[in-house]
Amino acid sequence: MGNSILDNAQGIIRATSNSIGMDQDDVEQILSPNAVIRLSVPIERDSGVTEVFTAFRVQHNNARGPYKGGLRFHANVDEDEVAGLATLMSLKCAVVDIPFGGAKGGITVNPRDLSNRELELLSKAFARSLQPFIGPDIDIPAPDVNTNSVVMDWMVQTYSEISDDPQAARSSYTGKSIEHGGSKGREAATGRGGVIITKALLDTLGKRAPDRPSVAVQGFGNVGYWYSRLGNDYGWKISALSDSRGGITTSEEAGLDPELTMRHKKSHGMQSGLYCVEGICETNLGDTISGMDMLTMETDILVLAALENAITKANMYDIKAKIIIEMANSPISPEAHDYLSETGVIIVPDVLANAGGVAVSYLEWLQSKSQEQWEEEEVNRQLSDIMLEAFHSVWERGETKRIPLKHAAFQLGVERLAKAI
Ligand code: NAD
Repeated sequence: MGNSILDNAQGIIRATSNSIGMDQDDVEQILSPNAVIRLSVPIERDSGVTEVFTAFRVQHNNARGPYKGGLRFHANVDEDEVAGLATLMSLKCAVVDIPFGGAKGGITVNPRDLSNRELELLSKAFARSLQPFIGPDIDIPAPDVNTNSVVMDWMVQTYSEISDDPQAARSSYTGKSIEHGGSKGREAATGRGGVIITKALLDTLGKRAPDRPSVAVQGFGNVGYWYSRLGNDYGWKISALSDSRGGITTSEEAGLDPELTMRHKKSHGMQSGLYCVEGICETNLGDTISGMDMLTMETDILVLAALENAITKANMYDIKAKIIIEMANSPISPEAHDYLSETGVIIVPDVLANAGGVAVSYLEWLQSKSQEQWEEEEVNRQLSDIMLEAFHSVWERGETKRIPLKHAAFQLGVERLAKAI
C-alpha cells in the first residue's frame, strides 16, 4: 500500500473500524464511494486550439446529508486523489457533526498555465458538466486548492444561466464572494477553525503548554495565511512561513508578521492571471530557509497547510515540534503519524483541524437557502461552537481510550457515519 490520500484514508478507516468492532458490511460501505464521475471538459485556448481537460467529482457518502466538498485545480488531480479527499470529507462532516456527506472534485490542470480568459472558460465549462450532478440538496461544491470566490462566482453564474433559478444557483455552491451571496467569515474560516482548535488544545494542556508558542507554518495560501495571521493576533510567535518556492524564518523575538508578508508577496510577487506566483522568499522579510529545513526546525507548533505527505518516513525522525496541526488533508503518512505519536508528539488530525471551512460552508448554505446574510461575529461565534464541541469530543475519547487524536476522531466519524447508513 502506498501513501496516496485514498490509501491513507482507507487504511485508517479499516484500523479504527476494527478497533470499535464495527460490522464489516458497514465498513465496506464507508470505504466505497457512491459515485465516481469523470468528465471531459473542452475549452478553446487563446491559440484557437481546443483542449480537453479531465475533471472528476467523487460523491462519497450522503447518508448524513447532501454531498459537500471542494473543487481543486491542480496538475496532480486524479481519480484516486479525489476519491481519497471525498472520503475524508464524509468523515470530517461527521466529526464536526454537520449534516453533510462527503464529496470532492477537481480538474487536472496547472491553472497558472492558463490566461484569465481560459481560466474563466474552464471554470464555466466544468460547472456546465457538473450541473446534472449537483444542486442545493444534492451536492454543494466549494473552493479548494487554486480555486477561490472568483471561480465559485463564475460557477454560480453558469448554474443560474442553465437553470434560470438564481436562488438554487446560490445554494448550490459555497465559498462565493460576499457580493454574490457568500458568507462573511468564509475566506478566513479554515485558518480560524484551526486556530480555535489549537487554542483549545493549549488551554487543555494547561501548564504542559508553552507560554508563548512558536509556530512554523508550511503553505502560505488561504489556509496558512489566515492561520498565521490569527495566531499572530493571539500573540503566538510565527517563527517560519513557507510556500512551494521556499520559506522565511526569523531570530527576532517578535516573529514574522503574516499580514505584512502577504502584502509584500502580493505587491512584489509576479501575478499570473488570478494567482500570485509563489515567492515568499522574495519578500525579504526574514532569513531564507528551505521548505525541507523548515519542517524539521526547532518550533513548538508545526502547522502543515500545504499538500499531502509533507511528513513521511523520509523526514519523520528529524521532526522537533511537539505539536503538529494538520491543516492540509493527509499531510502526514500513516507510518510517520504512528512513529511521531509514539514519541509523544500531539497531532491534531485533518478531519478536525481543517473542518472550519466546511463548517462555515454549512453556515453559508443555510444563509443562501434562507436568503439571509449574517454578521461576521455571528458566523465566527457559530464556527467556534462547532469546532470546540468537536475538539472536546475527540479529546475526551482520546484521553479515555488512551489513543491518538487521529484515531479518536476517526472512531467518532466512522461511528456517526455507520449510524446514518
Ligand atoms: P492554496 O492554493 O491557497 O495554498 C496552498 C499553499 O501551499 C500555496 O502557498 C503553495 O505555494 C503552498 N505549497 C504547495 N506545495 C508546497 C510545499 N511543498 N511546501 C510549502 N508550501 C507549499 O490552498 P489552501 O486553500 O490554502 O489549501 C491548503 C490545504 O488546506 C490543502 O491541502 C487543502 O486541501 C486544505 N484545506 C483547505 C480548505 C479551504 O477552505 N481552503 C479547507 C480544508 C482543507
